[in-house]
Amino acid sequence: MKASMKLGVVLCLSIATHAALGQQAAGSDAKRTLIRAGHVLDVKTGKLLDAQTIVVEGKTIQSIAPTAGVAAQAGDTVIDLGSLTVMPGLIDVHTHLTMSTNFDPFYEVTMTDAKEAITGVANARTTLMAGVTSVRNVGADAYTDVDLRDSIEAGLVPGPHMAVSGPALGITGGHCDDNLLPPQYHRVGDGVADGIAEVQHMVRKNIKYGVDVIKICATGGVLSKGDDPQASQYTLEEMQAIVADAHRLGRKVAAHAHGAQGILWATEAGVDSIEHGSYINDAAIAEMKKRGTYLVPTLYLEDWMIEKGNLPAFYHQKMLDTIAVAKGNIKHAMQAGVKIAMGTDAAVYPHGLNAHELDVYVNQLGMAPLAALQTATINAADLMGWTAKTGTLEPGKWADIIAVEKNPMEDVRTLEDVKFVMKAGVVYKGANAK
Ligand SMILES: [Zn+2]
Repeated sequence: MKASMKLGVVLCLSIATHAALGQQAAGSDAKRTLIRAGHVLDVKTGKLLDAQTIVVEGKTIQSIAPTAGVAAQAGDTVIDLGSLTVMPGLIDVHTHLTMSTNFDPFYEVTMTDAKEAITGVANARTTLMAGVTSVRNVGADAYTDVDLRDSIEAGLVPGPHMAVSGPALGITGGHCDDNLLPPQYHRVGDGVADGIAEVQHMVRKNIKYGVDVIKICATGGVLSKGDDPQASQYTLEEMQAIVADAHRLGRKVAAHAHGAQGILWATEAGVDSIEHGSYINDAAIAEMKKRGTYLVPTLYLEDWMIEKGNLPAFYHQKMLDTIAVAKGNIKHAMQAGVKIAMGTDAAVYPHGLNAHELDVYVNQLGMAPLAALQTATINAADLMGWTAKTGTLEPGKWADIIAVEKNPMEDVRTLEDVKFVMKAGVVYKGANAK
């Protein structure tokens, strides 16, 4: 029987799911779930192991062993995934779950905090169903991402594990400010902070209200009015102050940076990742390699924009200019050995298409399939500081498990159609439990 026939498409947050959540909360006598997998892909080595059983207890993986040696016990739930290939859930380190793919200026200026939060609830579910079991959400208004994270963790709504930044820090009039309205409206982006004292205050304020990571805008951006992606925005001194405070308080820093000077300054200031990196040059590449700074390319959005984008004139030309150079520069950085973690900028294009980013790495930029899979698993977990929790299927880690029809090492696009999703031991998609 074909696996696709065995798997009913059960998009479930069913009563059974809620029961499972309840059992986990009870703790010590957590039930076991046995996942019978046709194949398990080891994303450390690229090796495919046949006929494996993953034993899940509560939220975590207890063991992985050949199916022949793992008998079901009374009370176990058995999920037979047939001939599907199982691997760790994907991790996207650059999302905006509380934002939509809509760049109509009127839509943007009439956004409310409540609408943004509700948008986040819908997009969190879509993202999880696409096989993304963890995200780093870098930029949201009014701490809507903090509440979304906490609501998911509480079991109120379905979604991936989230590390969140709250409002992104940026200069007045910069990419992370709100520049659409004339001066009489006095609109200021939530994360705007200028000068050493203000950026220190904003880092501390974001941490006060519950963020896991600090996001900053080191250069101008594409989807903002009146600024230049190549121009540096924060100074080296401002970014050094941000990084010093964030790291002292136990938070990593993600820097939006397109222009080469801004990438270099942000890297010298000690940020943990450069987002986008469109105009990255050899000096920035050398500094990132020296410091082990991650690059998060966000490239599939360019393909989507060319095909389906509908941007106002004041964004459109900047998008064309960036698209003209970004893939070539990023390919150069990849070949030079800069560490890469998969991020998508989901919201710039519709949520749930996250895995298309890996298709760009492999089939457009020539990255080896195993290296590409590691950007969305091992590397992404490392960047987030979550290596002990996720990124591989190993005992003690979260039971964040997906299954696809083909071996992603041979066809990475199989990840664009994920058949089964388990997050923290709970099945959200494609269960054939018995
Ligand atoms: Zn972004």
